[in-house]
Amino acid sequence: MNDPNCLFCKIVDGKIPAKIVHDDALCVAFEDLNPQAPVHVLVVPRKHVATTNDLLPEDEPMVGHLVTVAAEIAKARGVDGSGYRTALNCNRGAGQSVFHLHLHLLGGRSFAWPPG
Ligand code: 5GP
Ligand code: ZN
Repeated sequence: MNDPNCLFCKIVDGKIPAKIVHDDALCVAFEDLNPQAPVHVLVVPRKHVATTNDLLPEDEPMVGHLVTVAAEIAKARGVDGSGYRTALNCNRGAGQSVFHLHLHLLGGRSFAWPPG
């Protein structure tokens, strides 16, 4: 199921270290290496899916799970009340650089809208 050349598959499989903050049957969450906010966690499915364009109907429970895990982490970090942003960047024009689906959880500061 996983891609041996994929950075996030390697993190999910424990072959590359990361600061893991959550781990379950569907996803792994870890600290972003280059955080853009005081809270910047990536919630990553165990299944290799390159982009949201590649999602299948059967992936809907997994994608929903990424969001609820992000909300749990936001609550644990105390940013649920002040606010946080979740983002799924799709393809390079939207800023995607790692082609294994990942939900960004960003919190602990203000965020502009519309995003840059
Ligand atoms: P994207 O630009 O694809 O939406 O997000 C990729 C994210 O992965 C970036 O925020 C980047 O800082 C993070 N990242 C890239 N390589 C690594 C890594 O090896 N370990 C961790 N923890 N994060 C990484
Ligand atoms: Zn992967």
